[in-house]
Amino acid sequence: MKLVWLRRDLRTDDNTALIEALSYGQPVVCIYIATHETWKNHGLAPIQADLIFRRLQQLSQELAALNIDLLYDEVPQFSDSVLRVADVAKSLKADTVFVNREYEVDECQRDDCLVSQLLADNIHVKCCEDKCIFAPGTIINKQGRYFKVFTPYKNAYLAKLGQQSFEVKKTPKGVVLPTPEAVRSLLFHQDSSFSYPRKNSTAWHADTHSIIAELRDFDAKHVDRYASDRDFPSISGTSRLSPYLAIGALSVRQCMARLMYGQTLPLNQGRAVWQSELIWREFYQHLIYFEAKLCKGRCFLTWGEGVTWHNDSQWIEAWKMGQTGYPIVDAAMRQLNHTGWMHNRLRMIVASFLIKDLHIDWRIGERYFINNLIDGDYASNNGGWQWCASTGCDGQPYFRIFNPITQGERFDPSGAFIRHWLPELAEVPDSYIHKPWACPDVRNVSYPDPIVDHKVEREVTLRLYKEAKDA
Ligand SMILES: Cc1cc2nc3c(=O)[nH]c(=O)nc-3n(C[C@H](O)[C@H](O)[C@H](O)COP(=O)(O)OP(=O)(O)OC[C@H]3O[C@@H](n4cnc5c(N)ncnc54)[C@H](O)[C@@H]3O)c2cc1C
Repeated sequence: MKLVWLRRDLRTDDNTALIEALSYGQPVVCIYIATHETWKNHGLAPIQADLIFRRLQQLSQELAALNIDLLYDEVPQFSDSVLRVADVAKSLKADTVFVNREYEVDECQRDDCLVSQLLADNIHVKCCEDKCIFAPGTIINKQGRYFKVFTPYKNAYLAKLGQQSFEVKKTPKGVVLPTPEAVRSLLFHQDSSFSYPRKNSTAWHADTHSIIAELRDFDAKHVDRYASDRDFPSISGTSRLSPYLAIGALSVRQCMARLMYGQTLPLNQGRAVWQSELIWREFYQHLIYFEAKLCKGRCFLTWGEGVTWHNDSQWIEAWKMGQTGYPIVDAAMRQLNHTGWMHNRLRMIVASFLIKDLHIDWRIGERYFINNLIDGDYASNNGGWQWCASTGCDGQPYFRIFNPITQGERFDPSGAFIRHWLPELAEVPDSYIHKPWACPDVRNVSYPDPIVDHKVEREVTLRLYKEAKDA
């Protein structure tokens, strides 16, 4: 008997641990364990929790079609989940527990505990590499060290991709097994209790068929224009697959295979740029694996710890609520608060605004994102925030500061995105949509004046960062 412990790999297709477990031709059982206290500490967004729960509902049916039961339980902490999996493995008389590795510090420690916990009972733990096409440690520079700059990492990645093919694996059916008596009470039910707070995620798919259809649709209709469309939030220029990648309802191999299928090299510009984004995702996974401090709230660049933050609570609140008086920032924050998702260009704009216009510690923004994003992923979120804060590995230079007005003018020229999320500005003429405070005709518009002057705050940031760097 084999036991598979599912975590952020909620799919049957191309699931390395599951397929490996099935390869022995023995009965296989899967288990998922919700850990509400650890999730609270990690700041898991209620909307992502809801997607996870809805995904489990689908997954239990998809697994059942493969003759595999899904067991489910809730415990407070990661440490309890290890004990619970160990108990279930013993009850099932499983000889091996299969997991797909995760690279964050707490997750690595959890899996180390599992290995030692099961050692005493002679139960083997097989940790599989699944989350990336090239697992951390498999792409290194000539000195045998990990890459700290994206472009050489990407070049090495593409060279490896050219030499070493990867597979999207089909999942065979399992051996029929009546649910063993010892675990019958843990069988997942559609109304199994899930005590973590949830926010409705039904605007996003939970079933495999629809998720794969989204991937195919993006590939057929949008990816070729990705390079030109991806920065404009009012058009559907990006895939919006991040929620599924984040919980493992979709694998990066499925995305890469679809992207490259039937293509001749070099890929056209749209495909090449989309491929780069998938590689950014893996780059950030590598970084958290090699730099444990990134999981402990530390800056990648040590001097970043010396930046003085003002952390004004009213400004933080205005930013969170989309009430800063800068339309592109406010529209983006309202998109996040309403849908749990935000366009990548806007993530950069609002992060830059929080850090470099309001002088708020990037960690406050990082936490707010994780608390609210449906695609919250520790590595990509930390990487994105540290890039914007200029404290990260290969981040934006600190003196390059986004201007929220010109960013809006460039990437939402007619204000279509702004008007959608800020209906109070619907009547503002195009020429004033990015600076409504300057419009002479705007009356009775309940929209705040800018809470700061960008030009003034830009100078403050240059001084604060220079002081930290020179210290
Ligand atoms: C401050 C900040 C915070 C972020 N937080 C997250 C997060 O918590 N989770 C998350 O998945 N992404 C995060 N990103 C990266 C990026 O914004 C999202 O992945 C992207 O917007 C998701 O939309 P999409 O699926 O349409 O992406 P597409 O443009 O279609 O890209 C395809 C996939 O590539 C990956 N990807 C794309 N851009 C990046 C990037 N810059 N870094 C890492 N991976 C990328 C994602 O998995 C994405 O689904 C963050 C970026 C910033 C600047």
